[in-house]
Amino acid sequence: MKVTQAEFVISAVGPDQYPVDALPEIALAGRSNVGKSSLINRMINRKNLARTSSTPGKTQHLNYYRINEELYFVDFPGYGYAKVSKTQRQVWGKMIEKYLLERETLKLVLLVLDLRHPPTKDDELMYDWLKHYDIPVCIVATKADKIPKTRWQKHVKQMKDALLLRKTDAFIMFSSETGVGRDELWAHITSVSGL
Ligand code: GDP
Repeated sequence: MKVTQAEFVISAVGPDQYPVDALPEIALAGRSNVGKSSLINRMINRKNLARTSSTPGKTQHLNYYRINEELYFVDFPGYGYAKVSKTQRQVWGKMIEKYLLERETLKLVLLVLDLRHPPTKDDELMYDWLKHYDIPVCIVATKADKIPKTRWQKHVKQMKDALLLRKTDAFIMFSSETGVGRDELWAHITSVSGL
């Protein structure tokens, strides 16, 4: 997809702030610092629209980005950040759960993982939970530039095995640094969004 327009729309704290124009939504989930903001920036070819930060856990809301007036990226708060209080975590959990279960325009969840490391317990829980509710998932294994290509397949297999990845869910290797995987991910997103 050729991105001609991308804008930050809202940092929503609840459903009454979600957009009402019914464009398809692609949500991004992943642990803090895994590279979600960098992925969004790479997908829309902008350096800094989505805030990449060295303070994980800072994003506490659902951040909406509108692309080409055609679809939204919805960035979830990163999980697994120890300094966040239990109460705060429960509040986010509830908000995300409600969104995932009730948002009719949701087409796909990108579960963003770090290709270098096996999925964490939180990653596995997230995947199992999404599957329990039959939500389509695409695993995006980012930071691929950080390991040599010769080892990619070994890491891919370890990740797929650890998650018990369903055959119906896509797996895309990605690098926000080099742009590897960008075209493949856009192709998948436009296809599931019916664009
Ligand atoms: P977020 O918390 O998930 O939004 O993560 P960020 O996008 O802020 O990324 C966290 C850190 O990882 C930053 O220092 C990024 O520059 C770095 N990073 C993210 N994606 C990549 C990637 O594909 N390759 C490399 N080498 N670094 C990355």
